[in-house]
Parts: sequence; structure tokens; C-alpha cells
Amino acid sequence: MRLIFATHNPNKVREIQSIVPGYIKIQSLAELDYHTPIIESGFNLEENALMKAKTVYDQFNRACFAEDTGLEIAALHGAPGVHTARFAGENATDEENIHKVLAELGEETNRKARFRTIIALVMSPEEIYMFEGLCVGHILNAPQGNHGFGYDPIFQPNGYDKTFGEMTASEKQAISHRTHAFEKMNTFLVRYRSPR
Ligand code: IMP
Repeated sequence: MRLIFATHNPNKVREIQSIVPGYIKIQSLAELDYHTPIIESGFNLEENALMKAKTVYDQFNRACFAEDTGLEIAALHGAPGVHTARFAGENATDEENIHKVLAELGEETNRKARFRTIIALVMSPEEIYMFEGLCVGHILNAPQGNHGFGYDPIFQPNGYDKTFGEMTASEKQAISHRTHAFEKMNTFLVRYRSPR
């Protein structure tokens, strides 16, 4: 089964190919020579994921999925949420985004936060499925570790005494929001392929 992954990020394509079962061949937009930026103007992660998957489905008329991830911080009423990539501005670096989160939280003692991934899978215009993956934890007072990307150095998952930024890629992958969402999609695809 071939599925298009509606992302321009080659790291994500590699990561996802290693999570899905071997019979699913993920095709990247680069392989399809599609380089047009995909608009993400939704009000939430669900809208963004759907927008990306539908845009690419309409282009190729082939099964396609897209994902969108946000960091949701309880004391900031769910922010940065859908603005996670650009919390500190349009071309903000990871360091600037982290700085803004820590500044907004200040001395706040409720540091509860979660990463949430939404996958939108478009099999046909009538068959659209959504999958959610969560990783629950809290925000530290200062960055720790320099592995990973994004907010990894300030996010410590519940049940662990180190941040995502201090974990190896495989340690993080075993518990990450993205993995949980993709596992749900995998389970669905196995059933979809061989319906009872
Ligand atoms: P995307 O929707 O997967 O592109 O994620 C949006 C933004 O969320 C990224 O630019 C990162 O800042 C942040 N992000 C997503 N996943 C992770 C993660 O696993 N660790 C840390 N930050 C992440």
C-alpha cells in the first residue's frame, strides 16, 4: 500500500517510515516533485492536519495523510497549541520559542503540559479519518539536554527523570505523541486492508 505523507520535512518522512509496517510505502512530496508550500491557517491542530492532507489529496487523487503537532501548556490555557512552531514569531528559532514559554510561565508552579499530534488520513473524499497521540508531562524551569528539536529540552514526560532533550532518539520515539498517533493509524490500516 502506498501512502503520500503531506510534509516537506524529510526527517519526518524518515521517522515515520521506520514506525509504519513494511507493507506501507510512504511517499514524500519531494519524491513526487511537489514543492509548493502547504497553507496551515487552521484554528486548531485538527483543521491544519486536514487542510494539509486534503490539499495534497486533491493534487494527486491518491491516499494521503498529514500530521500537525502542538505543545499545550495548562497554565497558558493550552498555548502555544496551534501556534507551537511560531510562538515567538514567524521565523522564530527553537531557542526563541523556548525562551518565550519560560518567560510566560515565570514562577508559575503548575507546569503541566502535553504534546498532542493529530493525523488526518484521506483515503478518498468520503473516507477521512483522524488519529490523536498524546505525551503528557511538564515544563522545567530551564532547558536540559541538547538532543531532539523544538521544545524537547524543556519537556519532561511523566514517569521520567529526564527531558526529551536528554533522551536518545529511540527512547523518545518509544513514548512520543507522534508514535502514539501513528500506532493508531497503523492499527486502523491493518484492519482497513483486511476487513472482516
Ligand atoms: P509539526 O506540526 O510537527 O511541524 O510541529 C510544530 C512544532 O511543534 C515544531 O516546529 C516544534 O517546535 C514543535 N514540536 C513538534 N513535535 C515536537 C517534539 O517531538 N518535540 C519538541 N517539539 C516538537
